[in-house]
Amino acid sequence: MIIAIDGPAAAGKGILAKRLAEHFGLALMDTGLIYRAVGMNVVRAGGDPEDAEAATAVAEKISAADLDVGDLRSDTAADAASKVSVVPGVRAALLAFQREFAANPSGGAAGAVLDGRDIGTVVCPDADVKLFISATVEVRAKRRVKELQERGLEAIYARVLEDMKERDARDQARAVSPLEPAKNAYPLDTSDLDADQVFERVLEYISSRNQEV
Ligand code: C5P
Repeated sequence: MIIAIDGPAAAGKGILAKRLAEHFGLALMDTGLIYRAVGMNVVRAGGDPEDAEAATAVAEKISAADLDVGDLRSDTAADAASKVSVVPGVRAALLAFQREFAANPSGGAAGAVLDGRDIGTVVCPDADVKLFISATVEVRAKRRVKELQERGLEAIYARVLEDMKERDARDQARAVSPLEPAKNAYPLDTSDLDADQVFERVLEYISSRNQEV
């Protein structure tokens, strides 16, 4: 069983992916983390994430160990990820990495949950379940501010909102694999829902689909 979850930043994909993976006993891959690792490996080597050649070379060498590095959740990593992710060579290299995981999930699991921006459209177009999780940019920025503050970091709403709009625009406008719902994805706006409600709605959707089959 493959569950593909796509949507913009801070829409609630991560927590949903984790809960679905636990519920169904599936392996979990946060694909944003791979783009973050590529971006940060470029930055740490003193390179520019917008340099297509440098970013592609790093993406071609990425391994599971690179995803365990501490600073991948930072805003610097998010920004670098969003820049390397427009590079076609990076996307091609990471496509192979993600498909390999979906075909052979870790720990011998019977399937996987992958969350990102192009899972249902490009990485796993034959996924059994496709979800497109969104929320207004204002709600997402508020969630991100709360999350940063809970981690003891300083966060200014107006700044976070601007960064988020910039990242959304870059994700939606890129030529290769832009952020968009797959045609047969279940769309869920989480602006007025908490994590429990999102999980319940998705479980209902999955069980209603299983009854149809
Ligand atoms: O989901 P997260 O915020 O960690 O993703 C960081 C960045 O990586 C996104 O803004 C996006 O540009 C890129 N990304 C992508 N395709 C994916 C996952 C993430 O382009 N499947």
